[in-house]
Amino acid sequence: MDTTKMRTWAEIDLSALEHNYRTLRAMLAPGCRFLGLCKANAYGHGAAVIGKKLEELGAEMLAVACVSEAMELRQSGVTAPILCLGETPEECFPLLMEYRITQMVEDLETGRKLSQAAQAAGKSVTIHVKLDTGMSRLGFFWQADRADEIAGEIAQLCRLPGLEAEGLFTHFSDADGSEEYTMEQLTKFLDARQALEKRGVTFQICHCASSAAVLHYPCTHLDMVRPGLALYGYYPDESLKGLDGPGLEPVMTVKSRIAAVRALPKGTYVSYGRTARLERDSLLAVVPIGYGDGYPRRLSNQMVLKIRGAECPIVGRVCMDMCMADVTDVPGVQAGDVAVVYDGPLMERAAQLAGTIPYELMCAVSPRVPRIYF
Ligand SMILES: *Cc1c(COP(=O)(O)O)cnc(C)c1O
Repeated sequence: MDTTKMRTWAEIDLSALEHNYRTLRAMLAPGCRFLGLCKANAYGHGAAVIGKKLEELGAEMLAVACVSEAMELRQSGVTAPILCLGETPEECFPLLMEYRITQMVEDLETGRKLSQAAQAAGKSVTIHVKLDTGMSRLGFFWQADRADEIAGEIAQLCRLPGLEAEGLFTHFSDADGSEEYTMEQLTKFLDARQALEKRGVTFQICHCASSAAVLHYPCTHLDMVRPGLALYGYYPDESLKGLDGPGLEPVMTVKSRIAAVRALPKGTYVSYGRTARLERDSLLAVVPIGYGDGYPRRLSNQMVLKIRGAECPIVGRVCMDMCMADVTDVPGVQAGDVAVVYDGPLMERAAQLAGTIPYELMCAVSPRVPRIYF
C-alpha cells in the first residue's frame, strides 16, 4: 500500500498479531479455547480485518461490546461464534438470531424476555451467563450467604425454552494488581459453578481470564481465555515486560508525513495560547496529527515524535489537525519525511504522560486515520 500520499496513517502488522496469538496460545493447556477480543473496532486496529485474521489463526470465538460490532464482523465474513459482552436492548433481540450472536445475560428478567423472543421466532439464542464476583459491573452478584438463591435463579434462566446456556463467565477487576483479590474472585466463580453443577446445570465453556490473568495465572484459564490487550502487543502491567516476558509485539504503528519544516528565530511563540516560546533559532516540523486524529492534547509540550530516528519534542499545544516538533538538532529533515507518532515505546510513554493507558490511546485513533494492513 502506497502511503506517500497519506498525511497520517496506522500500520497494522498482522504478522505481529499472529506472533502474539501464537505466543498466548502456547501458554494454554491443550483443549483450552481462545476468544479474541474485537470490541471497540478491535482496540482501534480495525475489527473487520482483525476478526477475520483471528478466525483464520484458529481463535474459536470472538467478542464484542454490542450488537452493531457483532454485525460488522458477520458482514465482513466472520463465521466463528461471536459473544456480545454488553447488554442488548430488547428491540435488537431479532438481530441476535439473524446474525447468530451469542448474548451475555446477567439477570433472569432479561433472560425471560430473550426466551420469549426466541420462542416467538421459532429459534434459539445461545447465551453466556455473567457472574459478578467483584468487578461490580455486569452480572449476577455472587454472595456466599445467598448462594442458594442466586444459583436457583441462574438455574431457572438456563432452563428457559429457546435459550442455549453454553457459557458461564466473570471478569477480574485487579488481575494486574492483586493476586489475593483475583484468587478471591476465582474462588467465587468456581463456587458458583459447583453450586450450579449440584443443581444439574453445567456449562460447556467457563471463562474468566483477560490478558493480565492469561499472563499471570494459568489456574484461571479454565475452558477458554479472553485476551484483548496482549493480542495487540501490550502488557497490562510492568512486571511482564523485558527479556523474561513473553515477548509480545505491538501490532499498531502510527505515522504521519511532515507537512512543512520552518526556520524560526529565537523568541518566536508557537501554537495556540503561546504556551511555548523558542529559546534559540529553531527548525520546527509541522506534523499533520492532532487531537482530531485521536492524539491527546494533553501531550502538548510533553511528548516527542520520532523523526529520522531521533526524538523530537512537541513544541506548543497539539492542535486539532497538527502539531509542531523541534527538529533543530536532526540534520536534513524535510517536508515529506515520516514522523513516527506511536510505536510500542512511544505508545506507552504517551499513555503515561497523558495520564491514561495504551488501551485508551489505541481506541482513540480516529476514523480519519486509515489503517494499512501488511
Ligand atoms: C475487554 C474485556 C476483556 C479483555 O481485556 P484485556 O485486558 O484487553 O485483555 C475480557 N473480558 C471482558 C469482559 C472485557 O470486557
